[in-house]
Amino acid sequence: MKVTVFGSGYVGLVTGACLADVGHSVVCIDVDQEKIDGLNKGVIPIYEPGLEELILKNVAAGRLSFTTDASVGVAHGDLQFIAVGTPPDEDGKADLKYVLAVAATIGRYMTDYKVIIDKSTVPVGTADKVKAVIAAELEARAVKTGFDVCSNPEFLKEGAAIEDFTRGARIVVGTDSETVIGLMRKCYAPFNRNHDKLMFMDVRSAELTKYAANAMLATKISFMNEMANLAELLDADIEQVRLGIGSDPRIGYDFIYPGCGYGGSCFPKDVQALARTALEVGHTPDLLLAVESVNNRQKHELFRKLSFAFDGDLAGKTIAVWGLAFKPNTDDMRDAPSRVLLESLWDAGATVQAYDPEAMRECKRIYGSRPDLELCASREAALVDADALVICTEWKAFRTLDFPKLKENLRYPVVVDGRNMFEPTDMAAAGLMYYSIGRGIKA
Ligand code: NAD
Repeated sequence: MKVTVFGSGYVGLVTGACLADVGHSVVCIDVDQEKIDGLNKGVIPIYEPGLEELILKNVAAGRLSFTTDASVGVAHGDLQFIAVGTPPDEDGKADLKYVLAVAATIGRYMTDYKVIIDKSTVPVGTADKVKAVIAAELEARAVKTGFDVCSNPEFLKEGAAIEDFTRGARIVVGTDSETVIGLMRKCYAPFNRNHDKLMFMDVRSAELTKYAANAMLATKISFMNEMANLAELLDADIEQVRLGIGSDPRIGYDFIYPGCGYGGSCFPKDVQALARTALEVGHTPDLLLAVESVNNRQKHELFRKLSFAFDGDLAGKTIAVWGLAFKPNTDDMRDAPSRVLLESLWDAGATVQAYDPEAMRECKRIYGSRPDLELCASREAALVDADALVICTEWKAFRTLDFPKLKENLRYPVVVDGRNMFEPTDMAAAGLMYYSIGRGIKA
């Protein structure tokens, strides 16, 4: 099939590369000339495991290409995927300006029947807005052609995006058109062989499904963080509690790890946007607001614990920070807990020596060069002359630690771990003061 994907970010590139890999002919469009020039030279703008190989392979096979020329993209695809960003506006609502700009572009160049597919995470009712924008463009040009707009929210996780796209639990499509059902079945057939994962529903339910999924996951995280904070105050161990509750199949072990708060480009903005949607229809979203406020507080826990360990005086201290990305296997630092920590440390007059296996370039892009930030070449280099260590991301590369050596390296034996990667007893045996989330030393 001929497919066009608008937006060459995390979702657009993964969608384009995976669809090309099963034989579809894919054109990816972006407005960012630098990004497209890079992609045309084989430079992949993001880190996502397996993505570079997949893109290079499919470009070489002639199934995948990149351009900023939207007219080429509109002419190419029978299916037009919209995978551009939907960042929060100043009220926390999803800003649809990029989505509607793509809709206008499609309407401006379209001459025959197309299916326009919302893959971006968009509030309920957006498909109607996309439809209206395209219809207005067609009318202005007096072009008479039919088109359909459907919702196909994306559930991939950064860090495992290709696996999720190709072997995800479900493929949700919101439409009331039999033509669209047939075309989407054909598009996704190569990913749908084991059992039927395609779930067709009405457009509004599909749009809400994506928000409900992310809000549910964010709720699990905030719930566990609340329990962890409570466990600490009650001298209980959240790790034992996690195992104790996870064993109940109604609860399960997945996604109940306490930590230093959720980040990334999806949970924070989607919980906020859903809360705004609720308020707009006259419903007070008490639970969503609590999920959000627990998370905002949790992102300050690392700094609070470190500050406690140093009696509130971090001025002039050098803090090693391991992990900057909002989770492992990505370079994405959007809304990452590490950013709250870094900015709090700088406000307190401390210097940061940071290391992340993939997010160094992104950190440099966000914060530039500043005297109180040193980007280090390895986890060991970050420890040189450091007063204490804080762990923000549970990268595999941090899992093994020589505790006595760590103690030797640090000026003060203080470790704050936002991901509960180590046993408090091992740390204590090595003479380290180990602050984690809901276990270890009380702060
Ligand atoms: P991103 O910021 O990585 O990429 C968006 C891209 O769209 C950018 O490259 C930007 O230049 C481009 N763009 C903007 N306007 C454009 C236009 N008019 N024409 C063509 N390109 C344009 O965003 P992302 O993380 O890929 O997210 C995209 C959407 O998918 C969002 O709605 C997001 O909520 C949703 N989503 C993201 C994830 C994730 O893990 N990142 C997962 C599921 C769903």
